Amino acid sequence: MINSILHHDDNINILGISEDSHHIIFIIEPQTQTAICPVCHHESHRQHSKYMRIVQDLPINDREVTLFIHSHKWFCDQNDCDTKVFTERIPCSNPTVVKHKG
Ligand SMILES: [Zn+2]
Repeated sequence: MINSILHHDDNINILGISEDSHHIIFIIEPQTQTAICPVCHHESHRQHSKYMRIVQDLPINDREVTLFIHSHKWFCDQNDCDTKVFTERIPCSNPTVVKHKG
């Protein structure tokens, strides 16, 4: 997934990379100015807040890969849409969101 993110578009900001012999951590932030509401498909220009998303990716050279993604929430301003706030999609297919372990 990290490859698909890094090669997907130029709007991904890499804030930091940390690695040791077992683990690689990428800290990234999408530089999106707008987002599409998943329900009504209108474009939102109004950011609501930021939150951190932690995603486990496929290993690279037997090292675990973890993505810390500064994602955004957005307002949907369409009166006839029940979705008031939604989270943006990150540019990759079906990431596995890591649940807190143990
Ligand atoms: Zn909407």
